[in-house]
Amino acid sequence: MLNLVLFGPPGAGKGTQSVKLVERFQLIHLSTGDLLRSEIAAGSALGLEAKQLMDKGILVPDEVVIGMIRSKLTSNPQANGFIFDGFPRTIAQAEALDNLLKELHTSISSMLALEVNDEELIKRLLNRGKDSGRSDDQDESIIANRIKEYNNKTAPLANYYSAQGKYTGVNGIGSLDTIFNDLCSSIEKLK
Ligand code: AMP
Repeated sequence: MLNLVLFGPPGAGKGTQSVKLVERFQLIHLSTGDLLRSEIAAGSALGLEAKQLMDKGILVPDEVVIGMIRSKLTSNPQANGFIFDGFPRTIAQAEALDNLLKELHTSISSMLALEVNDEELIKRLLNRGKDSGRSDDQDESIIANRIKEYNNKTAPLANYYSAQGKYTGVNGIGSLDTIFNDLCSSIEKLK
């Protein structure tokens, strides 16, 4: 199985590149942000609870997202592999993911990290907010919180995967196609 963690701060381009990678490598896209937004749209209790935090740019509790990923992994036993987008975001989530994959007799193949500076991220998120209608993309103080959460809780995952020899950095600034080609060549090298 090819199991990829697509990593990077909010606005790095993970969602956009995931869609293209899923098509190229026939993988299942698991975005915890998308799963949470579906729960909100469905008006579930979990969605309502998550919305309170998401609207402030704060991470939802580990057990909520781990539970969602567990159910997606176990309901897709025939998958070629998965792209994890926006997950894991904490060390506890990364450890839980390693354990879940072990139960399925597989593991993470690589973390592909899109590297983009803060100034470019804020510009991209505010632009995305105009089109996507996402409330957490429209307010600079919420964006600042999301970047703060990323720096405090998520950035340390780069070391977690480096220690396993699984970190691959990719320049996240440039044309969509150039970034996609760089990601594809990193993935080809894993095969
Ligand atoms: P995203 O679409 O990945 O930018 O996520 C939007 C929001 O959903 C984040 O700001 C968090 O509040 C929440 N969220 C998404 N994925 C996770 C995760 N793996 N752990 C905790 N919170 C998450």
